[in-house]
Amino acid sequence: MASGFGKIVVGTYVEIKRSDGRIHQAMVTSLNEDNESVTVEWIENGDTKGKEIDLESIFALNPDVAPDEEIAPSPETPPPPTPTCVKVNKIAKNRRTIAPPKNDTPSRDNRAIPTRARPPQPQQPEPAPPPPSQQPAQPTQAQTQQQLQNARRKSNCVKEVEKLQEKRERRRLQQQELREKRAQEVDTTIPNYEIMYMIRDFRASLDYRPLTTADLIEEHRICVCVRKRPLNKKELSVKDLDVITIPSKDVVMVHEPKQKVDLTRYLENQTFRFDYAFDDSTTNEMVYRFTARPLVETIFERGMATCFAYGQTGSGKTHTMGGDFSGKNQDCSKGIYALAARDVFLMLKKPSYKKLDLQVYATFFEIYSGKVFDLLNRKAKLRVLEDGKQQVQVVGLQEKEVKCTEDVLKLIEVGNSCRTSGQTSANAHSSRSHAVFQIILRRKGKMHGKFSLIDLAGNERGADTSSADRQTRLEGAEINKSLLALKECIRALGRNKPHTPFRASKLTQVLRDSFIGENSRTCMIATISPGMTSCENTLNTLRYANRVKELTVDPNQVMEGGRPNIHAVNQLDLLDEEWLSISPQRDDLKLLCEQNEEEVSPQLFTFHEAVSQLVEMEEQVLEDHRAVFQESIRWLEDEKVLLEMTEEVDYDVESYATQLEQILDQKIEILTELRDKVKSFRSALQEEEQASKQINPKRPRAL
Ligand code: ADP
Ligand code: MG
Repeated sequence: MASGFGKIVVGTYVEIKRSDGRIHQAMVTSLNEDNESVTVEWIENGDTKGKEIDLESIFALNPDVAPDEEIAPSPETPPPPTPTCVKVNKIAKNRRTIAPPKNDTPSRDNRAIPTRARPPQPQQPEPAPPPPSQQPAQPTQAQTQQQLQNARRKSNCVKEVEKLQEKRERRRLQQQELREKRAQEVDTTIPNYEIMYMIRDFRASLDYRPLTTADLIEEHRICVCVRKRPLNKKELSVKDLDVITIPSKDVVMVHEPKQKVDLTRYLENQTFRFDYAFDDSTTNEMVYRFTARPLVETIFERGMATCFAYGQTGSGKTHTMGGDFSGKNQDCSKGIYALAARDVFLMLKKPSYKKLDLQVYATFFEIYSGKVFDLLNRKAKLRVLEDGKQQVQVVGLQEKEVKCTEDVLKLIEVGNSCRTSGQTSANAHSSRSHAVFQIILRRKGKMHGKFSLIDLAGNERGADTSSADRQTRLEGAEINKSLLALKECIRALGRNKPHTPFRASKLTQVLRDSFIGENSRTCMIATISPGMTSCENTLNTLRYANRVKELTVDPNQVMEGGRPNIHAVNQLDLLDEEWLSISPQRDDLKLLCEQNEEEVSPQLFTFHEAVSQLVEMEEQVLEDHRAVFQESIRWLEDEKVLLEMTEEVDYDVESYATQLEQILDQKIEILTELRDKVKSFRSALQEEEQASKQINPKRPRAL
């Protein structure tokens, strides 16, 4: 074909006709020269669909993208292959002159608006119709009898196409009106306004099917979902753009602005699929309904349940878990902690559970830089011990008995104020610590079930491992490690593998019993910020959440260029890996790093090792120092007695000298040992510093 693809390029939106007669928009994703066709794709009920359509059909429905020669053939150009095609294009050309209907408001159905991913052209009205003298020549007697017959035969088909054209023309006019209206509205002071319109147009082409209460609540052993929050005041004030679209109950799309070499901007739309996707209008109650609520029953059935909020700082983790902030006060009755507690007390009243005579307890603690602090006991620092049977114990953790939801709310308030006391902002500290709220069911003192609800540290903090400040570095290392370990533990749970690298971090160590039980279930809520400025962090969050549930990518859906990438179909694969036998903390760390080679460079692994060693040594030095301190009190008492003895007239000099020597020998031995430990600890500190400098600056990225 001489004129080839006309005005069609990859990324052009065209109308297509489906086998059931529906006509809708689709995006051209490739031009196929060999068979003169194009491949188009569109989203339907959240799925990406595609098909190949021959050029003729495309031009018939979309005359404005057809080659100019076909629309207005010059006398020199040979006649096009079929009269239908000519006729159609003429109709289209002529119909451009139809005046827009008066007082006709633009369609309420925004799906009818064509959605080319191209910046708007302010103040550019449609070209005026050509004067009659320039109109293409009408058929004359010169036309052969044969052509007339052909035309008659095809007239029904033409009529059909005419109808379609009329419809299309109506939509075109509506769009033009909208474009003109928009042109007046175009606020070029908005940064990235072109991108804004591209996203708007893209959204207009989507078929929205958001999650509703009528949707089925599925049973998942591992449930991974995403929640998008609305743009906040700060983002609105700097006119940040919302680059996240949630078209259906389980799909999240990220519109990432990109730039071509010729500096034209375009959108790269990345599509992810999860068990559920909650858009920015979803309430906590609704998120709860599909995530944590199904897990309440698990703990009554003698199981263990965990629910995590994972995401960047400021993306809505605390809002989801702890509750709405209205002004400065948090209404914790609207958070998942409280909603879960409410349902626990409701379930307790059910006859089948009532007879079990269960007691309910709650704990609330935080893990900060690998250390555990009790939020229900003035942030007392607690020790984590593992006994011979690998049972992990948080020594001295306060378990408060609760009789009703109000009791729980009070505890949450106490814990929250304890967590943030002395902080300039609620996020200053919470971004660096994991908060764990647990509801424990006991029967005659024995554990029956446990629900752990965790507001994780901000995942962007995992990238702080190369900070110049040691404290920040160590915090970053622990966060990086704990989030990686968490992912591996959940994955191991899904595969029913006996070994989980839970020892690699304090978080996973403390939650170990929740991961190993046969009757364990978990849910992860990945919270994301909608703003363009958070795009990279958001993509990292989505990738992580995706890996929590093993992804299988349909090769037919791995696309190039402007095509969206489908990242996941939620299916746990059963990788037949050789799992290492139970190994100590170091081995778990090694295992963890091997499982995450992409994120963990060898240098980062060395750094993690150095940090782990440092943390272990710090604990050892502190413990020994405490022991020496206690011993010193005893020495003082002994020496006091000794000195008092010398005040007597006839004291035993021999005995005095022997005892003093004994005390001094003991002191020297114990103090030398402590000094040596401190020395090694100091060199470990230096090693850590060296290791931190070796980390490739590109890695680690935020988890
Ligand atoms: P994170 O705990 O992840 O750091 P927050 O939960 O503190 O983030 O949320 C940051 C801000 O955004 C808070 O002011 C919070 O009230 C607000 N916010 C978060 N999620 C939502 C939501 N779904 N709807 C309305 N506001 C939200
Ligand atoms: Mg928070």
